[in-house]
Amino acid sequence: MTVIQKNFKKLISEIEDISKGCGRKTEEIKLVAVSKTFPVSDINEIIEIGHNIFGENKAQEIRDKMEWLEGKDIEWHFIGPLQKNKVKYVAGKTKLIHSVESEKIAREIDKRSANEGKVQDILIEVNVSGEESKHGLKPDDTQSFLKTLQDYKHIRVIGFMTMAPFTDDKDIIRNTFKGLRLLRDRLQKDFPQIVELSMGMTNDYKIAIEEGATILRIGSAIFGSSRKTT
Ligand SMILES: *Cc1c(COP(=O)(O)O)cnc(C)c1O
Repeated sequence: MTVIQKNFKKLISEIEDISKGCGRKTEEIKLVAVSKTFPVSDINEIIEIGHNIFGENKAQEIRDKMEWLEGKDIEWHFIGPLQKNKVKYVAGKTKLIHSVESEKIAREIDKRSANEGKVQDILIEVNVSGEESKHGLKPDDTQSFLKTLQDYKHIRVIGFMTMAPFTDDKDIIRNTFKGLRLLRDRLQKDFPQIVELSMGMTNDYKIAIEEGATILRIGSAIFGSSRKTT
């Protein structure tokens, strides 16, 4: 087994332990292996041991990797900020776009996935912690955004995504994840299709699982922390 494969197996058993520990089923939690900046050969090492869900945060990089790995059964997730002129690389072509935070981008995704004859699943990125540097909508703006997005027939909002502040303070991290869960629970009455909570990365996935994450986005714990180029 390679280092990456060992890392992956260790991560999976930790996710199992944590979810058992808080009374959740591991099958309810999807792991997106974040392969950004790592070469296709590293992705192949993970595919070899039976995992096929990957995430990328740059539009050209995901476009290239989807092309290089064409023919393999891979579920691609786009997790990074998206500019309008790059929507065409991901809309209608990925399983899930995690990072939608404006109507302009939503409209473009709708248009492009219509061209592809697809309905694109998306998440709304929410800035729960309120940090200036963070992407995402204010929690208070999500309801009206959801209403607006109902008019678009080629996108389907299935949940929310957030990133916790970069801090060692576990309470701050927990409150961020909990805030996203409570927001979902509240809005689910009017928008029952809002189910997914994409939250939890290498440094905070344990807390995310405990707070109800349904999708984890984990890179460094699998591929290592020294980012290479493709
Ligand atoms: C890089 C990235 C991750 C994974 O981060 P790690 O700390 O390497 O696990 C998750 N989400 C987003 C949006 C990212 O850009």
